[in-house]
Amino acid sequence: MINENFLKLSESYLFTEIARKVNAYKEEHPKADIISLGIGDVTQPLAPAVIEALHRACDEMALAATFRGYGPERGYDFLREAIVENDFRARGIDIEADEVFVSDGAKSDIGNFQELLSRECVVAVTDPVYPVYIDANMMAGREIVKLPCTVESGFVPELPSEHVNVIYLCYPNNPTGTTLTKEQLKVWVDYATGENALIFYDAAYEAYIQSEDVPHSIYEIPGASSCAVEFHSYSKTAGFTGIRCGYTVVPKEVKSEKVKSEKSSLLETISLNKMWNRRQSTKFNGTSYLSQRAAEAIYTPEGKVQIKATIAYYMENARMMREALTDMGFKVYGGIDAPYLWVQTPGDMTSWEFFDWMLQSAHIVCTPGVGFGAQGEGYVRLTAFGTHENTEKALRRIDSKL
Ligand code: PLP
Repeated sequence: MINENFLKLSESYLFTEIARKVNAYKEEHPKADIISLGIGDVTQPLAPAVIEALHRACDEMALAATFRGYGPERGYDFLREAIVENDFRARGIDIEADEVFVSDGAKSDIGNFQELLSRECVVAVTDPVYPVYIDANMMAGREIVKLPCTVESGFVPELPSEHVNVIYLCYPNNPTGTTLTKEQLKVWVDYATGENALIFYDAAYEAYIQSEDVPHSIYEIPGASSCAVEFHSYSKTAGFTGIRCGYTVVPKEVKSEKVKSEKSSLLETISLNKMWNRRQSTKFNGTSYLSQRAAEAIYTPEGKVQIKATIAYYMENARMMREALTDMGFKVYGGIDAPYLWVQTPGDMTSWEFFDWMLQSAHIVCTPGVGFGAQGEGYVRLTAFGTHENTEKALRRIDSKL
């Protein structure tokens, strides 16, 4: 017997449909120079400090004396300590190394963490949303509540009107590129504390934050370390989409409940840190030594400067796109503290109609907003991960075709 919940998932329609349309267009117009502002992958190479660390780690693997086999499931101490020191203590956040779990990237941890919860948990996600939160919970058969993020509310979701057990938040946001201030995030931490709910906080784009009042970690908000789990990725921070490395913070204080005995309604609280450790040591055999040495190099003085330069490169694309598209008359959101721009389609064009126009008239690929949820209708997502040259060329083309 199969898990029929899988049959309830919508087809991974968005990127397949985009690829189908682009390929069909290329077949008909083989000479068309198509520029993608749609993909979420990076284009710039790894930082030199990361490359050097990878070479060194490779050389270690070549000698019996320094060869490494299976590593600790939670990750090597050298990386977990660098994380604690640089990503948390430097910001005045008290996180211990045994609250950090190194992974092969945020997607697997985000997808897997829900395994710790019962099927009965009600899960809230924003609309539009990074689809992994929904699909992972649908596979487990959970009820999902959508929190609309509309232009009227600055794409900030409202608190759920019914009780929910878990809320997924992603800031800076994919796909809208918007953020929450400390004050706005505090509303969610207070809600979760009051409702005994958990927040699963996706901080994959934290490194792109430029504004002072935007928190880099949910643990900057008092009370968060007893209700929030935070997911980090080096994919966009340092171009690790191919190397694969990230980490998840599960503070020891974060607990969820279990009924103590069938007959009584007494509740017992269980540490999610312990449960996640148990889960990982059963189902995960650690992140590659090479990837962890590569990630450690990001925290060296040279590494920090180099990854900042690449982020600045992408954010310059974001600035160019925001300014040029606004001058052309588009309503543009995001792109200030995030590598994503959320652009309202002109007139009353749907997301897909504007996608078709962009492809056919300007030879540019964007991502239709409706693919991220019903509230994304009437928007497209553009990414700043291209090269300067392609980004400039794409903007000139859009301008000339309007
Ligand atoms: N979270 C968000 C919001 C993302 O957009 C992505 C990747 O695009 C991820 C997580 C996954 O990152 P990783 O490459 O570390 O699995």
